[in-house]
Amino acid sequence: QAKKYNRGELLWYSPAMSRASKQRLDLLHDLENAIKNEQLTVFYQPQINLATGYVIGVEALVRWPQPDGGFIPPDQFIPLAEQSGLIIELGTFVLETVCKQLNAWHKEGLDDLSMAVNVSMIQFNHPGLITQLANAIREYEIPAGLLEVEITESVAMQNPEAVIQTIEKLKKLGIKLAIDDFGTGFSSLAYLQKLNADRLKIDRAFVRNMALNNSDSSIAEMVINLGHKLGISVIAEGVEFPQQASILRTLGCDEAQGFMFAKPAPANSLTLWFKDTGRYVAV
Ligand code: C2E
Ligand code: MG
Ligand code: MG
Ligand code: MG
Repeated sequence: QAKKYNRGELLWYSPAMSRASKQRLDLLHDLENAIKNEQLTVFYQPQINLATGYVIGVEALVRWPQPDGGFIPPDQFIPLAEQSGLIIELGTFVLETVCKQLNAWHKEGLDDLSMAVNVSMIQFNHPGLITQLANAIREYEIPAGLLEVEITESVAMQNPEAVIQTIEKLKKLGIKLAIDDFGTGFSSLAYLQKLNADRLKIDRAFVRNMALNNSDSSIAEMVINLGHKLGISVIAEGVEFPQQASILRTLGCDEAQGFMFAKPAPANSLTLWFKDTGRYVAV
């Protein structure tokens, strides 16, 4: 058997490797403590009807606050939580938090507001998820149709049999399903139909250069038309500029979320914002 590495590479490689894995372990340890001590928090980003400007709902986005006032972004700790199994505890915390919050908003009169929650692969394939969802909507008296689970297109593509079974159980509870980051995976049209999704979320990669790049707006247009042909509504992520919103509206996109309308924010500041705006924004 041939040598895989020569000596020089090994010597150069291994200290860097162990430094990286020590950092990972430290971060994992901190994350474990943060979950245990309930230091994670959830921000919410409004989702807007592009025809009316009405805020139909929010997407929950977890945040890990740091002592310096900043946050470690989820892209940096969700994968770690997935690999270590901590995602189950993290997901439980997020689900509890958002259902409690949605109940509070409904009680304050925002009784048609919906809530979208991101669920990652291990969580989605975990047998406890459905029970957890069922308990949460019962305990917090949430109309199931106002709760939406988001899975990415790539999660939907893994283990199709199991995914479809879980989706059927979600649907039985009346909970909605959105396919996140749509357009970045490779789901077939036949499979998409089987998924029985309620919403497609156009990945922000296709929204970003929409005004400059015709092929990006063609992809958005295709997703919108595809969704509508299958009876699925379509929301665009990452809308930052009026020009993007206007192209999306022209293409018939149902909803949008992005910095142009509102950044993800803590619940209490959104409550105030809802009161100030009457839940309408300029589109
Ligand atoms: P995602 O679900 O696709 O969420 C959209 C991301 O785009 C969020 O990043 C959001 O803050 C960001 N965003 C929204 N509008 C704009 C915009 O106009 N411009 C730009 N540049 N970005 C925008 P965030 O909060 O950092 O979350 C990243 C990813 O982490 C999420 O992607 C989701 O996959 C994952 N995630 C977030 N919260 C949770 C959670 O509670 N559980 C799980 N399993 N995953 C989560
Ligand atoms: Mg999402
Ligand atoms: Mg997304
Ligand atoms: Mg994403």
